[in-house]
Amino acid sequence: MANNPTIVLLPVWGSGHFMPMLEAGKQLLASSGPRAMSLTVLLMPAPTPQATSEISEHVRREEAAGLDIRFQHLPAVKLPTDHLGIEEFISRTVQLHVPHVHSAIAGLDFPVAALVVDIFCTPALDVSRQLGVPAYVYFTSSAALLALLLRAPALHEKEEEEGLAVDLELPGLPAVPRSALPDTMLDKKNPTYSWFVYTGRRYMEANGIIVNTAAELEPGVLAGIAASATAVAVYPIGPVLALTPAEAEAEAEAAQPHECLRWLDSQPRASVLFLCFGSKGFLGRAQVQEIADGLERSGHRFLLVLRGRPSDTSHGARNPRDADLAELLPEGFLERTKERGLVWPKRAPQKEILAHPSVGGFVTHCGWNSILESLWFGVPMLPWPLGADQHFNAFTSVSDMGVALRLQVDRERGNFVEAAELERAVRSLMGGGGEGAREKAVKMMMVCRDAVDLQSGSSCASLRRLSHELIQGAVRLLPNT
Ligand code: UDP
Repeated sequence: MANNPTIVLLPVWGSGHFMPMLEAGKQLLASSGPRAMSLTVLLMPAPTPQATSEISEHVRREEAAGLDIRFQHLPAVKLPTDHLGIEEFISRTVQLHVPHVHSAIAGLDFPVAALVVDIFCTPALDVSRQLGVPAYVYFTSSAALLALLLRAPALHEKEEEEGLAVDLELPGLPAVPRSALPDTMLDKKNPTYSWFVYTGRRYMEANGIIVNTAAELEPGVLAGIAASATAVAVYPIGPVLALTPAEAEAEAEAAQPHECLRWLDSQPRASVLFLCFGSKGFLGRAQVQEIADGLERSGHRFLLVLRGRPSDTSHGARNPRDADLAELLPEGFLERTKERGLVWPKRAPQKEILAHPSVGGFVTHCGWNSILESLWFGVPMLPWPLGADQHFNAFTSVSDMGVALRLQVDRERGNFVEAAELERAVRSLMGGGGEGAREKAVKMMMVCRDAVDLQSGSSCASLRRLSHELIQGAVRLLPNT
């Protein structure tokens, strides 16, 4: 490997973070020109066997591809054992790794262009300051959420003095109702709230924030960040859509399309509603019964992905099991709907499904990757958020981007949706009432694809600007720094 400046990535172990960040790193390498820079990926040991094997699989594939990427394993730390929320668990674990991150970077014997950290890894920004290495955050969610995070410290202070506001004003967005705020911002007594405010403060220390969005997808909110008092350089480089190993393998086995795709082949164009709740989402029996009822009454075609409660929830593990359909679904449902519906009890190839011409709508839990994937294929959505940043993403997809129709989700009842409400929303989206959202989704599809056009795309220009900046700012660390 050449002695070129290296970009040090510090990702967290979850696939939904690790892969997009690695993909973004690879795009930075590509935009910097042949062999101009390399990537060094620092690997914190994953806390669960499943995450460990997923990361090993990613690493094996990347090493086999022969790019300028080296993976460096950090030593194990004693994991926090207190009962913590996922954000805090990760943040506390990262904190324990800070000395190892310092030694790993200080030990590199070639110039360091930057340390790029995951959104959970802000404690590691200390290392960049100590070593004088430029620091960037890779933000896997929307620019709107970034704007909210950057505003969190000021909001906190304002609310301490003036009490809670009914709606929140965020430049570039319609007024944000409290009901649309992420879970992390709702309960001030919860340590996760303090984590959110702390993270917002620390982001301002970074040289820049790299965001998985496109300038034209969220123009108002990006302009709002640029004009704000806390302006930090933002690089929209998306959509970055990462393939997981399972999906890549499925692609390689294209001779045998997935059963869901074969079923879609037999359905009319744009006729199927796809329902999928992310890599971690699962629903209880009462909720599934309502879904089945709502879908049956709507009369529309559907592909429903269901998962079961995870068996292991230690160390932040939340991987759902395969769903037990006999237990979850109403009796006779599969038989009654077999001509127009498929229920899939395992992880499904979401991107390939969204790409299929028979899919005409998507009920999504509103993880940012799912929203980007839906837009990439021009599919309008019904947002059914379950937690984390998803309520906020649901709000912006309806009220800012206009690519989704509203679905009434009762947050007080564990994000419950009644059968009648689902039926109403499905009829509206699939039955012609959702034309505005459909047109907008198609428009956003063009926007996304234009943004990553190598010649003229705004995201590619952003990548080139950033990689130029990284090469210019690379520092050679002295031994024993
Ligand atoms: N995904 C998938 N099949 C599934 C569920 C999820 O391929 O059955 C993929 C989906 O395409 C996306 C990712 O998992 O790339 C989910 O990321 P997102 O940010 O939407 O939500 P999260 O799972 O992190 O909550």
